[in-house]
Amino acid sequence: MRFRSKLPDVGTTLFTVISRRAQEEGALNIGQGFPDYPIDPRLGEALQAAVAEGRNQYAPMEGVVELRERIAAKLAASYPIAVDPLAEITVTCGGTEALYDAIQTVVSPGDEVIVFDPAYDAYEPAVRLAGGRCIRIALAPPRFRYDWDLVRARLTERTRLIIINNPQNPCCTVAGRDDLEALAGLIRDRPVSLLADEVYEHVLFDGRRHASVLAHPELRERAFVVFSFGKTLHATGWRVGYCVAPAPLTAELRKVHQFNTFSIAAPLQHAIARYLAAAPDAWSGLSAFFQAKRDLLAARLRGSGLEPVPAAGTYFQLIDYGALDGAADVEFADRLIREAKVATIPLSPFYADPPRMTLLRLCIAKQDATLHDAADRLLKFAGRL
Ligand code: GLN
Repeated sequence: MRFRSKLPDVGTTLFTVISRRAQEEGALNIGQGFPDYPIDPRLGEALQAAVAEGRNQYAPMEGVVELRERIAAKLAASYPIAVDPLAEITVTCGGTEALYDAIQTVVSPGDEVIVFDPAYDAYEPAVRLAGGRCIRIALAPPRFRYDWDLVRARLTERTRLIIINNPQNPCCTVAGRDDLEALAGLIRDRPVSLLADEVYEHVLFDGRRHASVLAHPELRERAFVVFSFGKTLHATGWRVGYCVAPAPLTAELRKVHQFNTFSIAAPLQHAIARYLAAAPDAWSGLSAFFQAKRDLLAARLRGSGLEPVPAAGTYFQLIDYGALDGAADVEFADRLIREAKVATIPLSPFYADPPRMTLLRLCIAKQDATLHDAADRLLKFAGRL
């Protein structure tokens, strides 16, 4: 039998490929986004306590109630909004599962989904597995602004979903309330749902405030909004995220979730619930924490030819190597792995039709010593060019 792939052109995710390359070449990996410092020891202790207490059997399909109550309290404190923890919150296996579930919930064969490039790599395969088609709209470097007139021109009878990512990975940009207003105006009279990937909700720089779709009453009514404790608690390996959506949408999402992962690791959910009870504002210092790291790395690289591009949010930083070299970003990134021994993420693979650009993404969720090490290696390499 000849097996027919459903995703013939999809390879291994770039983050995994780059992490592998980093290992092969003994390079410092500041590509894939994950912290290299420990979690709060109280979170680890909470996990041990949850296991010792016997929280080792299936969690409720929707998520542990205590955790969903803590999430509702967190949303109320952050935005402030009232979310029903029982009817509107579903705990998922990281943000990725929430994205997948929401896409399967909304998209049917023949539907179109608007996605903005550079688009996080999990969106399009999920749309295609649902039988849909992505309409990819490029955000142009260096500012990566939304052009809402262009979006209007791409809406059709078949448009069923728009996916936005704010703060945006990998651009490190932040959309404002005015963007949400423009978006709301566009889809007001259309049967279009919204999927908002807001996993970097707590990492905005220079005094910016996050404009969550949940805080926009009109958009919220038709939105699935995705969050991640991996980002917020520096624990990407725990794979605990959640989706917030109005009760009727949540009921539909859970039909997918229950047959996808069913429920998420019980001890992890109890641990996070317990930790948030003890540290109810655990996330409040995140912007300042990452801003200091952004500033450290940017100050080290400025003037080197590997120029930091001002970052408004996320735990990434773009650098522009255009002054040093005109090579394509994928090649330049591989050269950095081999010669500078630093692994970074090129941007063009996140575009359907990449513009000319010379940008790489660096992860700043690293110990200061790691960032200094990365800067030392990059400066030495730039000096040789
Ligand atoms: N979110 C991470 C990043 O942007 C990658 C997660 C993954 O490897 N799938 O780097």
